[in-house]
Amino acid sequence: MAPIDPQGRTINYLRLSVTDRCNLRCSYCMPPQGVANIGHDTILSYEELYRIARSAVAIGIEKIRITGGEPLVRKGIIDFLRQLSAIPGLNQLVLTTNGVLLNELAADLRDAGVQRLNVSLDSLDAGTFARITRCGNLERVLSGIATARSCGLPVKLNMVVMRGINDHEIADFARLAADTAGTVRFIEYMPAIREPDWQRLVVPGSEILERIERYFTLLPLEQTRMAGPARNYRISGADGSVGIITPVSEHFCSQCNRIRVTSTGQAKGCLFADSCVDLKPALQTETDLLLTQALNSIIAVKPSGHLMNPSECHHQAFSMASIGG
Ligand code: SAM
Ligand code: SF4
Repeated sequence: MAPIDPQGRTINYLRLSVTDRCNLRCSYCMPPQGVANIGHDTILSYEELYRIARSAVAIGIEKIRITGGEPLVRKGIIDFLRQLSAIPGLNQLVLTTNGVLLNELAADLRDAGVQRLNVSLDSLDAGTFARITRCGNLERVLSGIATARSCGLPVKLNMVVMRGINDHEIADFARLAADTAGTVRFIEYMPAIREPDWQRLVVPGSEILERIERYFTLLPLEQTRMAGPARNYRISGADGSVGIITPVSEHFCSQCNRIRVTSTGQAKGCLFADSCVDLKPALQTETDLLLTQALNSIIAVKPSGHLMNPSECHHQAFSMASIGG
């Protein structure tokens, strides 16, 4: 059974990062030169990541999302995913990607047991996409998404909404969800790297919703037990749906069901908590006992919430790529 934290929240979801490296340089995620190079010996081996996943499932985690950096740039990722999908008791193995390598890897991901993909896509305009990602090729990502869908892999799109940068495309993304019977989730921009004047970029979820509702009628969908923090809506008259994720304007901390482990083995109960538990000492022992204890200890001290809002944040600056978003 999934563990319950002191706030009464059921914790059934682990976000496991396999690398902090990336083949894009999204402006909201990392500086133009990328993140500082972490040595190979600091990044956990696949054996160590596997032990963490197995221990997490042993304490009751039911869903694992593989993330990064860009998880598909790490060599050997497909074999690792195949091992993970065979862990008894793991109900959902899903992955978040920027989509750049999907043409090459989608079929292998499906065969390895990945059940669903979230693809980050912040613009449908090639120029805007290249500006946000600092080097990305929109055509390549769109064709990767099409390849994944044609392989039978369900794909949800995640758009980080930024005022003055891509917010004029909100309705276009909702239309894309309606036209393709797909799901698009709109995520409030989070000031992870704390760039100066970040407040101007935040478009609150209520405004995103209002701007979609100028064109579409939205019907609220029920939240499922394993769902993430999105408030989901079916688009009336279409099979598509949209979700709104509001980490900044309306905290969903009281329903948070997740823990995170970074590619260097730091376990975190909250994306915006400055503290973490280092799993490396537990990984140096032969059995998984200390590892399960360390994971349980993160759940025991999981913060009740964070203090970020559209005008203030209190965390130390970090790159999402180093934690996994
Ligand atoms: N490289 C993969 C990708 O981009 O999908 C996985 C890692 S990325 C860090 C995970 C998620 O974090 C992506 O959906 C990305 O859009 C989101 N993210 C990164 N920085 C963000 C920010 N400042 N605000 C909101 N979401 C952010
Ligand atoms: Fe890379 Fe994902 Fe960060 Fe973009 S959001 S720079 S794709 S890790």
